[in-house]
Amino acid sequence: MDFNLCSRISILKGDIVNVSCDAVVNAANPALAGGGGVDGAIHRAAGPALYEKCREIIKEIGRLETGEAVITPAYEMKGVSWIIHTVGPVWRGGNYREREKLASCYEKSLAIAAEKKLKSVAFPAISTGVYFYPYKEAFDAAFEAVCGFLKKNDFPQKVIFVFYENSAFEYAKKRAAL
Ligand code: ADP
Repeated sequence: MDFNLCSRISILKGDIVNVSCDAVVNAANPALAGGGGVDGAIHRAAGPALYEKCREIIKEIGRLETGEAVITPAYEMKGVSWIIHTVGPVWRGGNYREREKLASCYEKSLAIAAEKKLKSVAFPAISTGVYFYPYKEAFDAAFEAVCGFLKKNDFPQKVIFVFYENSAFEYAKKRAAL
């Protein structure tokens, strides 16, 4: 990876709710209803005001489509100002534009962050839990989308990939050559 990009990307292992940054990205569902996995952890950390805000958004837009993103405050989540909610694709074997939709999650989330001139954004491994996207293919798509975006944009200055699972973390580090 070229030096400039390298200095703008980090890969961490751990719980995304413990990362300090301007915005964390939530692997949400179309109803923004909260749930298990990373979504549940983020909602627990942000507190009930996040549920209320999400309900308001859904009243307005109906549902958040796959590959789209919206931003909310992070409420009670410590060390974070914003949460960007995006809906990843459910893996159905790879022939249903899953890669394009997953790339869109990263690009749309980053576009929101760029518009707000946010300095740092942390992403979980979107779609790789109950949406079944294989973690290697998911990281390949995510990494390509993020690098492409950062090359063209000064904001966010920094992107942090946060992995919960060791195998995905190890793969990402190797793949990104960090
Ligand atoms: P999706 O519905 O998009 O598949 P999940 O929450 O089921 O979302 O899983 C996405 C990824 O997030 C999985 O790889 C899972 O291991 C990881 N994950 C779950 N909890 C956390 C957390 N607290 N911090 C970071 N990653 C998490």
